[in-house]
Amino acid sequence: MKTIKLFFTLAFFTTTALAQSHNHSYQYTIDLLNIQDDQVTVSFSPPKNKLEQGKFVIPKMVPGYYDAMNFGQYISDFSAFDKTGKKILTERLDQNSWMVHDLKNVAKISYQVADGWDSLQQNTRGAKSAASTFIQDSVFVINYNSLAGYFQEMNNLPYKINIKKNKDFYASSALNYILKNDSTDIFSVKNYRELVDAPVLYCIPDTTWIKVGNAEILISFYNKEERHYSKKIADELETILKNQQSYLGGKLPVDKYAFLIYYESSKENGLMGDGLEHAQSTVCLYNSSSINYLPNALISVASHEFFHIVTPLNIHSKEIENYDFLNPTLSKHLWLYEGMTEYATIHMPIKQKMISLKEFARKIEEKTHGMEAFDNKLSFTNLSKNAVERQDQYMNFYQKGALLGLCLDIKLRELSDGKIGTQELVQRLMKKYGKGKYFNDDALFDEIAAMTFPKIRTFFTDYMEGGDPIPLKECLAKVGFEYDETTKKINLINNPNAQQLALRKAWINQ
Ligand SMILES: [Zn+2]
Repeated sequence: MKTIKLFFTLAFFTTTALAQSHNHSYQYTIDLLNIQDDQVTVSFSPPKNKLEQGKFVIPKMVPGYYDAMNFGQYISDFSAFDKTGKKILTERLDQNSWMVHDLKNVAKISYQVADGWDSLQQNTRGAKSAASTFIQDSVFVINYNSLAGYFQEMNNLPYKINIKKNKDFYASSALNYILKNDSTDIFSVKNYRELVDAPVLYCIPDTTWIKVGNAEILISFYNKEERHYSKKIADELETILKNQQSYLGGKLPVDKYAFLIYYESSKENGLMGDGLEHAQSTVCLYNSSSINYLPNALISVASHEFFHIVTPLNIHSKEIENYDFLNPTLSKHLWLYEGMTEYATIHMPIKQKMISLKEFARKIEEKTHGMEAFDNKLSFTNLSKNAVERQDQYMNFYQKGALLGLCLDIKLRELSDGKIGTQELVQRLMKKYGKGKYFNDDALFDEIAAMTFPKIRTFFTDYMEGGDPIPLKECLAKVGFEYDETTKKINLINNPNAQQLALRKAWINQ
């Protein structure tokens, strides 16, 4: 999608093209130095225009989350001024939008932004990895969807962002931040979508770079107490990423990637992890009673988010390519975006011989237990379209969705004498739809059938469009596993036949 090309474009953009586009871009200033009441002051001059009025939007939703998060809720004191400093009339239309009158004469707009979470343990609604937090003198986790917006009438223009910050703070991001002076960073993007796609972690740096294949990977870590931990995480991640690389056919589809990891210790037992994927970075938030849980937790959250570089970031429908931040239309294919991503996350470790058959069987059992909490008769394509309304069922994409990925993988292997599984399917889809191309939501199942086997179409009709019970027992039997539907236990069959062994070998390399 937006890989190396994006990077070169950006580097070029900051040095040359920006000067010419000065009047045709949003020029933002974000002040991280003077925080008051936990609020950051943001101001910008709009692009040159001839508009009588304009509708300013802060996202209701962002790609990757299927729930209305209403980032406008964090905005207050929204004011517009002309070049003499005189106020110009603005009206708040709803939680996420404002009408700005006499827009052609507006020289500056300013507002205050409150943070979305002070602590990961706070039980506030909405996923924190899409919101921002400001802890003066320590750390800023910034998702631009909660700090910057756009005018609907001018929604595909460049941004130039100035950030005033503590001189000891370093900006960890997939973008190139340029030091303008001691306490100001600047960077540019070609449009709002790119801005939202590149979060930043600002703090005294604890960073490690590693190289995996062609990709330069930044690991940036923040914890209040532990300030030298990125190296340890980088060692863990390097193993995971190298295995992900071979799983993805030997080459990572990115040249630069940033893991922005924020960790908070808590008194409560256990671990909480939340992550949001982007084209060239991911924000991972963790909280646990001991930092020792962290390396292990990485394999699920960071690995899942990184696999998203395949889908939806490289393979997606029109609904995602032309994302509407105020009223998005959702795609039918969350089974692909979240289900298949989660399936790759559990399938990769066994395929790459990182875990034992027993451990793999336990992983599948966790998913079968997980899906019991949901209504498994619902059509997955309908559920996907209505994910915002059906938040009660949404998490099943990570449970039943992953298991449907597993069944699809085995069915494809069976039809192809072991040669084609979901890994190969995804490669074919990336070839056809990667880098700025998109598929038609209604045509995807037929396309997959055309590029693999016509027979596989019924799998989608029965289990994705329809709500037939998942054929897990039948599929696992084909690869020599016994699934007891009453106890939900999964065990190896005692005397598997040659066919079962061959299919298992093709499927998980064991
Ligand atoms: Zn995901």
